[in-house]
Amino acid sequence: MTGRTAAVDYYDVVVVGAGPAGTMAAIRAAQLKKNVALVERNASVGRKILITGKGRCNLTNTADMDPFMQKFGKQGQFLRSAFYEFFNNDLIDFFKEYGLSAKAERQGRVFPSDDKSMSVVRALEKALAETGVNVFTGSRVMGIRNDAGIFHLKVEGRTEMWTNRLILATGGASYKATGSTGDGFHFAKLLGHTFNPLRPGLVPLKTKEPWVIEMQGLTLKNVRITFECGGKKIHSEIGEMLLTHFGVSGPLVLDLSSQVVELLGDRKEVSLSIDLKPGLTMEQLDNRMLRDIEEHGSINIKTLLKDMLPLKMIPVFASMLNLDPAKRINQLAKGEREGITALLKDFRMTITGALPLEEAMVTCGGIPVKDINPRTMESRIIPGLYFAGEIIDLTAPSGGYNLQQAFSTGYLAGESASCEK
Ligand SMILES: Cc1cc2nc3c(=O)[nH]c(=O)nc-3n(C[C@H](O)[C@H](O)[C@H](O)COP(=O)(O)OP(=O)(O)OC[C@H]3O[C@@H](n4cnc5c(N)ncnc54)[C@H](O)[C@@H]3O)c2cc1C
Repeated sequence: MTGRTAAVDYYDVVVVGAGPAGTMAAIRAAQLKKNVALVERNASVGRKILITGKGRCNLTNTADMDPFMQKFGKQGQFLRSAFYEFFNNDLIDFFKEYGLSAKAERQGRVFPSDDKSMSVVRALEKALAETGVNVFTGSRVMGIRNDAGIFHLKVEGRTEMWTNRLILATGGASYKATGSTGDGFHFAKLLGHTFNPLRPGLVPLKTKEPWVIEMQGLTLKNVRITFECGGKKIHSEIGEMLLTHFGVSGPLVLDLSSQVVELLGDRKEVSLSIDLKPGLTMEQLDNRMLRDIEEHGSINIKTLLKDMLPLKMIPVFASMLNLDPAKRINQLAKGEREGITALLKDFRMTITGALPLEEAMVTCGGIPVKDINPRTMESRIIPGLYFAGEIIDLTAPSGGYNLQQAFSTGYLAGESASCEK
């Protein structure tokens, strides 16, 4: 049952969820002349897009395809077909066609030229209108039934919708105020799928040490962090992290957080080591201190540390070493000097957990890639059912990768769902 039909409730393709994945899926299917319904529970499309990239929307990354896929870990290869169909430059061209130009910043992060995520949503709305997608906002899908290959959708406040090509693009289960409450996992289960347990990804971490509160709001730049537990270590690049009233956050921490959550598992604690001077060896640091002592021996420890550490960190640092900040540096014992060097290279904290899924930027877990055909995004279990976006168990660190995943899998799902079998 394909092609346009007079029945009001029947659509060639129905897409549930108007985030980046669902919107792109609907646009692509409409470009291919299908009668498409895009059903969204919020009053408008792309609510989550508005808060991405701190309101600037880091919509993709300029990385090449292989390194791009590697960002998604071992299962990143799953995205090859989707990326072949619609990759970063295609996305940039797509937005250009609908009046939005983009610019690349450091680490290949791509943003709209006007730095406004609202402009991304406006461009998507324009594309939806121009391609003729039937958009139903304020319409939460409450249940889905598969009756001999026809999907019946119960939609809040509307008559039932039906289709034989259904795309689930309901996102993950975090930042629920944006509409992503995890309904899609429930629907997939009702239709016969299983899903991997949901865990927070790109999430701030909690620490045990009460003194972290004294350093809240402090950004540590050019540091390297290492998480360690049971002999397993996760190292970061050199970058930026943030100290908060409950623990740690910022790019370095968020990017490794899903691995840390995994490492925590049933354990109570994971140790975090911060190398505050990754560009210098212990020996170089010690030599530098010896030079300071020789040349400016009468200055105190606080003044010495001001050259090496942010001000807010000094009291905590000195108290961990049992040092009086007012003591003159030419009175430092060798052991005390070595203590400073060691702490600069290995400032330890204890991770006790993560903030809840609700406060995670992405949801890890979801529909396993083994149950989805990577060439079409169609379910390997239920013919006619497609998945796109964060509902799939495939997430990456920050940098525009997750939005590109959503746009690419959405595009491919929309295209495949529009093809005659
Ligand atoms: C604070 C924050 C910042 C981020 N910044 C970036 C960034 O800069 N770059 C980047 O690449 N990624 C970023 N992300 C991640 C990115 O936003 C997601 O990966 C992306 O939005 C996933 O797209 P999606 O279409 O799969 O799901 P979503 O965007 O979550 O969209 C799903 C849609 O489905 C709708 N829906 C759910 N259930 C139903 C139902 N029953 N009936 C009808 N509609 C329903 C929801 O209302 C929602 O609109 C950020 C995330 C957060 C939380």
